[in-house]
Amino acid sequence: MSQTYSFFQSVEKSFDKAAAFTNWDKGLLEQIKACNSIYSMRFPVKMDDGRIEVIEAYRIQHSQHKTPCKGGIRFSDEVNQDEVMALAALMTYKCAIVNVPFGGGKGGIKINPKKYSVYELEKITRRYTAELVKKNFIGPGIDVPAPDYGTGEREMAWIVDTYASLRPGEIDAAGCVTGKPVSQGGVTGRKEATGLGVFYGIREVCNMEATMAKLGLKTGIAGKTVVVQGLGNVGYHSAKFFREGGAKVVAIAEYEGAIYNAEGINEEDLFQHRKATGSILNFPGATNLAKNSDALELECDILIPAALENVINKENAPRVKARIIGEAANGPLTPDADEILNAKGALVVPDMYLNAGGVTVSYFEWLKNLSHVRYGRLEKRFRENKNLHILEQIEELTGKRVSDPERKIILKGAEEVNLVHSGLEESMIAATHEIMEIWNANPEIPDMRTAAYVSAINKVATSYMALGIFP
Ligand code: GLU
Repeated sequence: MSQTYSFFQSVEKSFDKAAAFTNWDKGLLEQIKACNSIYSMRFPVKMDDGRIEVIEAYRIQHSQHKTPCKGGIRFSDEVNQDEVMALAALMTYKCAIVNVPFGGGKGGIKINPKKYSVYELEKITRRYTAELVKKNFIGPGIDVPAPDYGTGEREMAWIVDTYASLRPGEIDAAGCVTGKPVSQGGVTGRKEATGLGVFYGIREVCNMEATMAKLGLKTGIAGKTVVVQGLGNVGYHSAKFFREGGAKVVAIAEYEGAIYNAEGINEEDLFQHRKATGSILNFPGATNLAKNSDALELECDILIPAALENVINKENAPRVKARIIGEAANGPLTPDADEILNAKGALVVPDMYLNAGGVTVSYFEWLKNLSHVRYGRLEKRFRENKNLHILEQIEELTGKRVSDPERKIILKGAEEVNLVHSGLEESMIAATHEIMEIWNANPEIPDMRTAAYVSAINKVATSYMALGIFP
């Protein structure tokens, strides 16, 4: 008999399933699972028309086994305590999986940002930040928020400005939040990080011969058909990197509908079309699908749900035909859907590993803020001079000259964005192999999500033991 679980309960369920494959003390496992600190707040904000509205908001620190805690802030009508708890827990496991040395946290403000003016949103964000400062729930060594559903660079700029003004003289204040505009201490490459991480993760899985053979697919990304749900920051960038990697993005869904084109869709053209017409529908060359959820059920190799939680559930999961489901969003599958898809032999690549690109690059941004220097500033010219010297020696010894385009590539020293992408690629590849090794070593582990949880549990438990809390 299937049961309905709250989002937090379904995270707990996945955790328990994986914990059974570890030998850690029961009490320690209970401690890892629990949400350590929950700050539920209400504060008043005066709206443009003079009305006073009471805003409901949260910041939850799931685990402080490493500090600071880390995780985004979402603005959505659907925000509630259970959801923020679940998302905070996922952050703990996510950071552990990609070896980012943070505990898990998450924040949420229960508003539909589309219903507020920019000035109202600014007041809400600044007041929320002030509430966090008052309770010591934010700071570069305490808890570091970031963008999530409904928030972006603009909100992060308001947060850092509010924090810095309330903590004058704090030299590391810029590290109190990540996902900032580059002009305000952000790092180049943060914006596309989650989508790029999704691509690197799926590409690595697709390069594994045995895994692809089991799914009846060829290795590699080239030629694979992809369906993306959501054209927000994560969906847009996932689609972009899959297309650039040689895959065919045959369908894209948004809340107003979905479109299909067997020849592939260019996400940037579609984005511009949506900007101009207000909808993704009626995109030249593509067919409109009756319902946006129809896209989830299309024939394809890879399905990327990149919007909100619970979009694939026990009702529609039996009709999902994709061989690989890449959870770019947090919690897009209910536990029932997960079981149905695994039983069908599909590969579900789990959220807390696959969408960890965002927090990985947030880690790089935080390091940049603490070091007060842009990546590449110290070594770029040194590297270029060295490359030139090596190239000149080779040319002199061989008597040949490399072509101008090749010359440019060889000589170039790394910019910040190159280093950030390289660090992200390394983190995703390493995490994929760690998870797959756990899975391969124990054939009883039923799916990749469970293997990823085992990886996370082992790492978090090891840190707790090192803290000496559980001697
Ligand atoms: N909100 C993103 C996530 O769910 C990013 C978190 C961060 O960068 O701290 O992973």
